[in-house]
Amino acid sequence: MHLDSETARRNQAFEVGIREYVGMKEGPPFACPDLVNEPMIRHWCEVMGDSNPAYLDADVARKTVHGGIVAPPTMLQTWDMRGYPMRDPALIQNKQRELHALFDRAGYTGVVATDTEQEFIRYLRPGDQITSETTIESISEEKATGLGIGYFIVTRTVFTDQNGDEVGWLTFRVLKFKPSQPPAAVATDGGAPKAPSRIKSPRGHDNAWWWEGIDAGLLLIQKCRDCGALRHPPGPMCGACQSSRWETTESSGEGTVYSYTVLHHPPIPGYDFPCPVVLIDLQEGTRLVANIAACKPEEIHIGMKVECRIEDAGEGMKLPFFYPAR
Ligand code: ZN
Repeated sequence: MHLDSETARRNQAFEVGIREYVGMKEGPPFACPDLVNEPMIRHWCEVMGDSNPAYLDADVARKTVHGGIVAPPTMLQTWDMRGYPMRDPALIQNKQRELHALFDRAGYTGVVATDTEQEFIRYLRPGDQITSETTIESISEEKATGLGIGYFIVTRTVFTDQNGDEVGWLTFRVLKFKPSQPPAAVATDGGAPKAPSRIKSPRGHDNAWWWEGIDAGLLLIQKCRDCGALRHPPGPMCGACQSSRWETTESSGEGTVYSYTVLHHPPIPGYDFPCPVVLIDLQEGTRLVANIAACKPEEIHIGMKVECRIEDAGEGMKLPFFYPAR
């Protein structure tokens, strides 16, 4: 009885404590460190693969309705980013951090971003000075989620220009939760935890047949029964003629490296790092993301000839591995 009332008292103090933050500003208005500028616009467009000349080409932009270069609207949040790795504690000690610390102390140590909403009121131009101000807008009731019980916290950031006019806003929702107990590692040989294995192949309604082909040692390609177009990854409908009738053809397994990347971080359990991932142009004309074998990351190159062997990847799971062509 005493313990129950003690717990109830603590829970109530926590509830009262967190509600005090609703409506609070995260901190004073933050003057964004750089004026809106062309180099940052160019870098952002490069990373995002956006080649719109209204953002990049002064001559073309001058002839548009904007009359000159403008920043991509979705870049709005970029202007108030505090830098990485945020060494200056003054920039990160704010009311939102305090609130998260309250949750942490109560056992809600997990955090995951869930969604954002944004509105862009006008295009920003080089020379604009942006100020941002963030408010803790709401905290939900305690909810049960797949990750554990927790609370959704919404913050709203309003962006204004040098005239004090609002140019856009965004809300950001996070879930602070008590992580559910992770499943215990299964001991297989008298105590030693089992080594983690690779992520299992996803087998849904539209793609299980492809993995069953792999299980049988066949690298299959889906083929439209009406127009003959080949496609991969598997899907229910032909992108060329919209027919849903299809059959399969077996690939020779010969191909070339169209592109590749080498993963270094984060080290996902079950994989060897550095972990090369290659995009293969199959001879038949479709592409496939796959593993490369018998080849050091530095030896992989675009245009490299490869051939497929379907091999056991552990725990009875078969996967296509591409080897340098003999
Ligand atoms: Zn077709």
